[in-house]
Amino acid sequence: MAFHSKSGTSSVQLIVEENKQFQFRMFTCSVCHKKFSQKANLLVHFRVHTGERPFKCTICNKGFSTKQNMLKHFTTHDVLG
Ligand SMILES: [Zn+2]
Ligand SMILES: [Zn+2]
Repeated sequence: MAFHSKSGTSSVQLIVEENKQFQFRMFTCSVCHKKFSQKANLLVHFRVHTGERPFKCTICNKGFSTKQNMLKHFTTHDVLG
């Protein structure tokens, strides 16, 4: 399988809304309006919209949006045998 997904024209913008009526900050995804209490969580979530996959498997170089997914995939390689 080939993953050539860098078409270059994806211009999804990250807009962080601060809902000041709450005591704590809420960060809202501008695409699906999912809410997060931490900006870092929103940034991680936002990769599902941008297609960004910064976590690369060191064996097959496949990219993943989260470290957890990468590690889960990594265990499918029979590296310990
Ligand atoms: Zn979203
Ligand atoms: Zn791999």
